[in-house]
Amino acid sequence: MAWVLSEFKSRQVHFDFKIGIGKSVQIVRRFSVSPLHIQMEKNCIFCKIASGEIPATKVHEDDKLLAFMDIAPANVGHTLIIPKKHHEILTDIPDDLLKGITLLTKKIARAILSALGAEGFNVIMNNKEVAGQVVPHAHIHIIPRYRGDGQQLHISPNPRAKTSVDETAEKIKKFL
Ligand SMILES: [Zn+2]
Repeated sequence: MAWVLSEFKSRQVHFDFKIGIGKSVQIVRRFSVSPLHIQMEKNCIFCKIASGEIPATKVHEDDKLLAFMDIAPANVGHTLIIPKKHHEILTDIPDDLLKGITLLTKKIARAILSALGAEGFNVIMNNKEVAGQVVPHAHIHIIPRYRGDGQQLHISPNPRAKTSVDETAEKIKKFL
């Protein structure tokens, strides 16, 4: 007697509670969930957008990735790209999936340049709250840039950071 993972299809996973022995085994209860729900983090707004629970204006969707319009755009065409599965930050994302995200970023950036007449774009990924990540589900911003758009994405040089640059490089290299 046990819950058994009996079927795994692209849209649904079925767990069956079976009793009996040999040919007399009966399924007494079936519990079905979507794979997306298994991977979903409770209360994660991007998981809910990925599962369709919360609507979004989508520009691309496949079984692993989603690109949709930011609801508080910094400029016309501000688009977000997410993995449907919940990963918090860049370093959590498996290599194959990250490759897909990168290629989709390129594809959408190219479409933005053609469709909207943007003269450039910023690709931004904030990782962890200290870096400005608001939703803890990994996402990439593509922000189209238009001359005179008034946006300032500016990180200023810190003279204190420069004094230890060689030592810092050595520390990083030890972990590569
Ligand atoms: Zn999530």
